Amino acid sequence: MFEYTITATDPNSAARTGIFATPHGDLLTPVFAPVGTQATVKTLTPRDLAEAGATLVLANTYHLYLRPGTGLVRDFGGLHSFMGWPGPLLTDSGGFQVFSLAQMRKVDADGVTFRSHIDGGLHRFTPESAIASQEDLGADIIMCLDECPDPLDRRYNEEALARTHAWAARCQAAQRQPDQALFGIVQGGVFPDLRVESARTLRDMDFPGYAVGGLSVGETKEQMYAMLDVTVPELPAHKPRYLMGVGAPEDIVEGVARGIDIFDCVLPTRVARNGGLLTRQGRLNLRNATYTADPLPGEPGCDCYCCQHFSRAYLRHLFKAEETLALHLATTHNVRFMIRLMDEIRAHIRTGTFMAFRETFLQAYRIPNQAVRHAQRAAHKKQMGAGK
Ligand SMILES: [Zn+2]
Repeated sequence: MFEYTITATDPNSAARTGIFATPHGDLLTPVFAPVGTQATVKTLTPRDLAEAGATLVLANTYHLYLRPGTGLVRDFGGLHSFMGWPGPLLTDSGGFQVFSLAQMRKVDADGVTFRSHIDGGLHRFTPESAIASQEDLGADIIMCLDECPDPLDRRYNEEALARTHAWAARCQAAQRQPDQALFGIVQGGVFPDLRVESARTLRDMDFPGYAVGGLSVGETKEQMYAMLDVTVPELPAHKPRYLMGVGAPEDIVEGVARGIDIFDCVLPTRVARNGGLLTRQGRLNLRNATYTADPLPGEPGCDCYCCQHFSRAYLRHLFKAEETLALHLATTHNVRFMIRLMDEIRAHIRTGTFMAFRETFLQAYRIPNQAVRHAQRAAHKKQMGAGK
């Protein structure tokens, strides 16, 4: 169970392709997982996801624990059956949301107490309860409870790392279901020595896969790439590596070059709902008046249902008129964009041309200003904090 077979390695970088066998199907890596926070990738049915070529979907334990409750999902046969997705699923432990969304939190050695962002109710997660919740949900890949500190705060990262490692051991001991792959999570902020220490500690616990957490949360891209450079070489080569919460196209290309196999991010779906289409040239904002009478599809050459049937002018009209179809069509395109990107990345790794592809891709892809991205993220966090 959970065999990871490496099928090709790039001679000029740490990129590799592989097959990760899960109870609900084989994952071809590198793979991108669209995020279905509330057991749904917003605006898409599982049929849409399958049509887009998605293989792995992520759901958030924190949200499902609060509503409808993980016990209810268990009573419906688990998350696969409850949400009607037959393929591989991944759940996080809920830790990240507790540390980013919950209104109040108090961490101690045993766990974390917090108030729900929905109704202010008091709750507590421990390593054991995080595993129990994820066993109720029944995803193929599950995560250890970890603490996610401000990546720039050295003292806090040192304290949190000790807890994260102790919790990882307790999560491992608490696991009862052998058909779920429990991944350890490397933390350590932007501090190379802490990242190395974390990777080595978790490596010795022998997890079936490893995640790199606590990145893309306020540090610069250069800091994020530097942390991957020091962390990945410390992880065992024959286990999958998952970069949590990272999914900007340019970060995926850079992550793959550094040996990452699994990615997830709300970015493609959230950007879509804001009227943004991902293209190889960068983001195209449908709210921009330039597209009022533009007959071209969202991204010329794309094989998705949206691009095959509709003009930018029509999509812009739907956004302006606040029609819900706008959200569905833009999301359809952006998810397909990500899946096609991953298909292409795997093909280039197999043929040994990944580094040339990376250069071409990064030259063409206009990267949004980091300040703008951080402001958008902060605005979203505030909105979620207000329980909207
Ligand atoms: Zn498309």
